Amino acid sequence: MIIIKTKTDIEKIKDAGKIVNEALLSVEEIVREGVTTEELNALIEKIITSHGATPSFKNYNGFPAASCISPNCVVVHGIPSKKTVLREGDIVSVDVGAYLKGYHADAARTYPVGNISSEAQNLIDVTKECFFRGAQMAVHGNRVGDIGCAVQAYAEENGYGVVRELVGHGVGKNLHESPDIPNFGRAGRGVRLVNGMVIAIEPMINEGCAEVDFSREDGWTVTTRDKKLSAHYENTVAITENGPMILTM
Ligand code: MG
Repeated sequence: MIIIKTKTDIEKIKDAGKIVNEALLSVEEIVREGVTTEELNALIEKIITSHGATPSFKNYNGFPAASCISPNCVVVHGIPSKKTVLREGDIVSVDVGAYLKGYHADAARTYPVGNISSEAQNLIDVTKECFFRGAQMAVHGNRVGDIGCAVQAYAEENGYGVVRELVGHGVGKNLHESPDIPNFGRAGRGVRLVNGMVIAIEPMINEGCAEVDFSREDGWTVTTRDKKLSAHYENTVAITENGPMILTM
């Protein structure tokens, strides 16, 4: 069931979104060679809880941390660890959700660690642009396939692989609501978008092949099958009479 949000609901999601954005901007400032992904996670948790909010991901289906931190070939759902030390030239995706006064917001960024290759930077840039091309389609009367088609077209034009197994989603009182928002699809197909829907659009774009593997060891970590890089960029977006409204920037 798709839950349509009121303007008040959307304002509350935006309040949670401001916290998510603050956490992401703070992480960006401390990402550097030598930092562990657990240190990034600790900062995120501190910022979220300092606002009286709760990290949406902590204990979600048993996830053990406040955020997902996914370096290099990890696509998403990386578990922060003291053992994972960032190195110059890495890229790292940081996915944050905050729950405040009954509403979630969800967003992700991919950051460079120090100087990175132009290839890695291009992957980050294209993934971000994929989000904006998708978000532009998040208007009343369009369909879910219009978003996916826009994301997929730009990624594939750039020679990248689009992850199929993981998709965006509705956001609200629940972290994951209907409908699914795939990063691929056919224009004009799928669920019709209407004002009041709030969705997380989250391209997960691979440098190489689209295929991914799910970790059997920790039950969470998703990696690219070819072990090439993957980037992630996400915002929570409301579909409104004034067009797409990004709630996590
Ligand atoms: Mg999400």
